[in-house]
Amino acid sequence: MSAKITCRCGACGFEITDDQPSLSLLCGCTDCREALEWCAKKGGLEPVSLPELIYVKSDIVYIFGLEFMKAFQLRHNARSTRVYCKECFSVIGVNHKSYRDNVFMFFKDHCVTTCDLSIKPSAAIYLNELKDTNQINNLKNIPLIMSFSKKETQQFRSIEAVSGSFNEIKRPRYGQTLKSVIKSISKMEILNR
Ligand SMILES: [Zn+2]
Ligand SMILES: [Zn+2]
Repeated sequence: MSAKITCRCGACGFEITDDQPSLSLLCGCTDCREALEWCAKKGGLEPVSLPELIYVKSDIVYIFGLEFMKAFQLRHNARSTRVYCKECFSVIGVNHKSYRDNVFMFFKDHCVTTCDLSIKPSAAIYLNELKDTNQINNLKNIPLIMSFSKKETQQFRSIEAVSGSFNEIKRPRYGQTLKSVIKSISKMEILNR
């Protein structure tokens, strides 16, 4: 079933072909925190310390409010590009080189979606960059990835939902990827953080 992902004010969003996310992760990384803090400062939602990332197939069949979408990178040559609404500063989609155009990511609770959000996180990642370390004690029955050491990278890649999302997959696509949508957004901002 198709699903919608829209910003919190409803000015812009996407329709994707599949409402079933392929992966959920909890992420303590500095980049996620800085990106969400930047949006919050502009009027977006205050981020939680360990945001949940939802990954969906990058197959966008309908775009609305493209003129309200802007894209930013935290610094020059960053690996992540984030699409946000210039009215409400919701991040509605994130592309990262490692996603290989298979999937894109959004932050749970930072946009409005009809995707099935009953998926449980498969791992908590970048916990070494987490500011509020008390959070780690609350994480039960989930792989804890501190810093992507060689051993942790292996452990991470062996998670079925991870390989199913990030490995190159050949399947029919009906729309366009987030990467190609980003190309049609007027101007990329580099925040230089
Ligand atoms: Zn908006
Ligand atoms: Zn992150």
